[in-house]
Amino acid sequence: MESHSIPFLDLVAPHRELRKELAAVFENALDTAGFIGGGVVADFEQEFGRFCGTRNCVGVGSGTDAVRFALIAGGVKPGDVVVTVPNTFIATTEAITQAGATPDFVDVDERTYNMDPQKLRHYLQVHCNVDGTTGRVYNKRLSRPVTAVVPVHLYGQPADMDPILDLAERFGLLVVEDACQAHGAEYFSRRANAWKKAGAIGKAAAFSFYPGKNLGACGEAGAVTTNDDEVARTVRMLRDHGQSRKYYHDMEGYNARLDAIQAAILRVKLGHLPRWNEQRRQAAARYRELFGSADRSEFPPYHPDGSKPVYHLYVVRVPERESLLRRLADAKIGTGIHYPIPLHLQKAYSTFSYKLGDFPVAERLASEIVSLPMFPELSADQQERVVKTILSFVDERGVQSVLSASSATT
Ligand SMILES: *Cc1c(COP(=O)(O)O)cnc(C)c1O
Repeated sequence: MESHSIPFLDLVAPHRELRKELAAVFENALDTAGFIGGGVVADFEQEFGRFCGTRNCVGVGSGTDAVRFALIAGGVKPGDVVVTVPNTFIATTEAITQAGATPDFVDVDERTYNMDPQKLRHYLQVHCNVDGTTGRVYNKRLSRPVTAVVPVHLYGQPADMDPILDLAERFGLLVVEDACQAHGAEYFSRRANAWKKAGAIGKAAAFSFYPGKNLGACGEAGAVTTNDDEVARTVRMLRDHGQSRKYYHDMEGYNARLDAIQAAILRVKLGHLPRWNEQRRQAAARYRELFGSADRSEFPPYHPDGSKPVYHLYVVRVPERESLLRRLADAKIGTGIHYPIPLHLQKAYSTFSYKLGDFPVAERLASEIVSLPMFPELSADQQERVVKTILSFVDERGVQSVLSASSATT
């Protein structure tokens, strides 16, 4: 029997659905030649800021620009150290380096895949000294001040922000959320006794609207959200050659504006984002049910209380990954690995002389994770086929669950 392929991600279907509205955006841009800036960028910024629950939103050229500008505007200086996690897309650390700082890492929580606040505490207390007079934190190995932390809401699951904010306050660190995978995710802050959207928790946050993200442009785009007016003002200058007004340059900046066509496209799509996120949540619930009814409830990702993830990616840990990937490919089921090599082991960072074993949780996850098909239009039938294919592989091999196998070794 010929079976249809199941894509990992379907970018064609949502654009077919919105074809008329999106075509009108392009036609309007041609009619008005409004390609850069203008009312539509401001309108999108206002709407996305309202969506996140922040006073300010500043559109920029990409998520990478957004992380970099949030760090610079938040006060990170050349020579500083900025701490993040090793299991993120390299854009997070590129942005840190582009801000003139050095990236450093703390390991992640094995269940959530996100920054482990205990390990951040250990890093600050054991790997750093606090200067008695300035109160600044210095990394002992690098002899440089640690000034910021960038938690990543990986796969659309909010990082545990409360203890990170507590530590940041105590050690005087800037907190920039990398919310590039978490448009609309929510976190219950015990500190604030309120639900907060990703992007409204730290001093500032970075979003990417790369086409494959939950809210994607038809090209490159990003945004910084913040409740701090001064940070927002600086990001506005940084994205536009450091201008406070036309040809008055208060500083050197960048050419990194959000273009008007992308802003208009994002406005159209933002209206659909709550429904798309809900469809992703329903698909995640179906995966959970399918694995659960086969008595394999160790597969679905852990979902902590006090969080409402948006499932940018649906990531499971599997035994014998390479063989399973082949089996899924043979069944024409698309998959991904996010990400196969933790950043500290990337060639790009070989000069930092990290080694295997430095961040064991991130390393183990990198060798065991698989991202299954996940997008709003994913059907129940498609999910059933995905789960059946995985379970038949697991049963046939008689392999132990990777979770019970790894907990036996830890
Ligand atoms: C996509 C992404 C970025 C970068 O966004 P771009 O728009 O591609 O520059 C940064 N961090 C994370 C975690 C991402 O997933």
